[in-house]
Amino acid sequence: MTVNPTSNNFKENAKKALADDNLQAALNNLKGGLISKRKEAIKRLPEFDAISTRAKNIKDEVFLDLDFYLEKFEKKTIEYGGVVHWAEDANDAKNIILELLKSINAKIMTKGKTLISEEIGLNEFLEENGIEPVETDLGEYIVQIAGEKPSHIIAPALHKTKENVADLFHEIHSPLGYKERQNSASALVAEARSVLRKRYLEADAGLTGANFLVAETGSTAIVTNEGNGDLTQSLPKMHIVLATIDKVVPTLEDVSTILRVLNPSATGQDMATYVTFSTGPKRRDDNAGPDQFHVVILDNGRSDLIGTDKQDVLRCIRCGACMNHCPVYGAVGGHAYGWVYPGPIGAALNPALIGIEKSHHLPNASTFCGRCEEVCPMQIPLPKIMRHWRNEEWKKKIPKYSVRLVLKLWLFLVLNPVLYRIVSSIFVRILSFFSPQKGYFSNLPFASGWTSVRDFPAPEGKSFLSQWEEEHDDNK
Ligand code: SF4
Repeated sequence: MTVNPTSNNFKENAKKALADDNLQAALNNLKGGLISKRKEAIKRLPEFDAISTRAKNIKDEVFLDLDFYLEKFEKKTIEYGGVVHWAEDANDAKNIILELLKSINAKIMTKGKTLISEEIGLNEFLEENGIEPVETDLGEYIVQIAGEKPSHIIAPALHKTKENVADLFHEIHSPLGYKERQNSASALVAEARSVLRKRYLEADAGLTGANFLVAETGSTAIVTNEGNGDLTQSLPKMHIVLATIDKVVPTLEDVSTILRVLNPSATGQDMATYVTFSTGPKRRDDNAGPDQFHVVILDNGRSDLIGTDKQDVLRCIRCGACMNHCPVYGAVGGHAYGWVYPGPIGAALNPALIGIEKSHHLPNASTFCGRCEEVCPMQIPLPKIMRHWRNEEWKKKIPKYSVRLVLKLWLFLVLNPVLYRIVSSIFVRILSFFSPQKGYFSNLPFASGWTSVRDFPAPEGKSFLSQWEEEHDDNK
């Protein structure tokens, strides 16, 4: 996959994903685990709903005064010796990071997991400019050496089975002296750790994302389970944090509130293994730590959402619960969505970041079953936001003329109930007349989108309304 969105190929991407046995096996193996772990963790936290409401309110309050909190964060960061850089869009952010790296003549930069760097296409940009980015999160490392993109926001290599990873490591690590093909998960992890340890020591700079920007202290915080973020940010001489404007929270207390819903929702843990705060570069008496601490704060279209009917999407803390519970994501995986954020959050966020024209299939790739909203710890009304995007799609006349015509006809009929009943009863009778003995149609010319992938049940003679009325009369 390239950094350019392929979201408008969603239908083709999804068809390929459904026919990919390896992907289906990977999705089956792993998804169930995340769902049941979340369920168990929430059982252990009876006050989950109350904390979730508090977490939602914290973010909503921040958005009322976003500039105030961002400026407060900047002031505090400077007080502790750090530098804040403001980036309006992806190009700004990439150029700022490149200039910082050039200023120390950096050749290798280790990276903790950051979706924002995927969003701006940072790796490709750095490579073009002679700097080697090295992913250190295990999942990110796997997809990087495979030449792929992450397919899940907390489990980037979710689309791969253990056997796939074993083959990949064998191929890539053999020239480095790791000749034996490892089969167990623990041996594969140990091998990756051994390879990556050397890279940490070679790196001139380390880049991490931030789960939080804490306004009261000027600290950035990351939440990890592998400790890779800590090595990335503390060993090289420069630490760069790349985060977006929506990550700011007022206080450390707010961080702890949101963490209590983030960890159970993401991995089913009560608390992640590492929650690391960075406040400025190393002090004079510190034995270790970076000499320079830079925070690049990116907008990239997010401030346009403030005050709109899509603002709620900015509350997202990237826990991944919505995609774990989404039947569409569960069937096709993350790559089908064609851009950085897959699943329901992608369907709600990507149109804001890359435009509805390039992503209009995504808000339609939903059954509106509502599970995403139900499990979202930040109470984001994802289906409602997808509906807003569908409206935009309609207003911009993006759907094909034939689709719009059918929908207009449908609208006309539902607004005229008598006519609707007459037309639907004629339609049902015609279908009944042609109904095959097997009880379903395998091919219907006007509904080929449906019948090309599944059978269409044949009506049983009368419309639902007529049957209901008959039953109602019998009960009198
Ligand atoms: S939308 Fe909600 S459930 Fe989905 S990743 Fe964001 S916070 Fe988690």
